[in-house]
Amino acid sequence: MPTVFSHAIAGAALARTIRAEDARKLMIAAVISAMVPDLDAIGFMTGVPYGSFFGHRGFTHSITFAVLWSALVTVLLFRKAPWPAALLLFLATVSHPLLDMLTSGGLGCTLFAPFNNERLFFPWQPIKVSPLGFGFFSARGLAVLASEAVWVVLPSVILLLVTKRRRSACKAPSPNNGPG
Ligand SMILES: [Zn+2]
Repeated sequence: MPTVFSHAIAGAALARTIRAEDARKLMIAAVISAMVPDLDAIGFMTGVPYGSFFGHRGFTHSITFAVLWSALVTVLLFRKAPWPAALLLFLATVSHPLLDMLTSGGLGCTLFAPFNNERLFFPWQPIKVSPLGFGFFSARGLAVLASEAVWVVLPSVILLLVTKRRRSACKAPSPNNGPG
């Protein structure tokens, strides 16, 4: 996986692309949604076999899981304006396995589970895989952070800046709109 921080940043960047009344709540939900697939790492550490259906990068890293999770969170928290929230939360959740599929190690993600449990990667894998658990605090951890900075954090920050600029441009009063 990219580190959980990078997934969170990607979720935040996606949340900035949508305008909503409860933007802060939606942002927090998107950040959590982008991290939630890696809850399966608990199973990984407690003996669930990596390659099994509920193993790491298994079912929680699928489109089906993203649909179910985003629907659940929307029903619980965003009933007033469900569609933008559901779409954003789906994109934030599914961004997680898509980023994992760009990493250089471990097993691939079962993106199409439960219909097809093949472990998938993209043909291009520029992100160095992050060690699970405390192995992250190592020299390899630094190499991982460097590759994530380039391939995840940088594009996310650019997206954040672009959406911020677009918003301030929308908010600024036009000089032609004055009285007279
Ligand atoms: Zn993952």
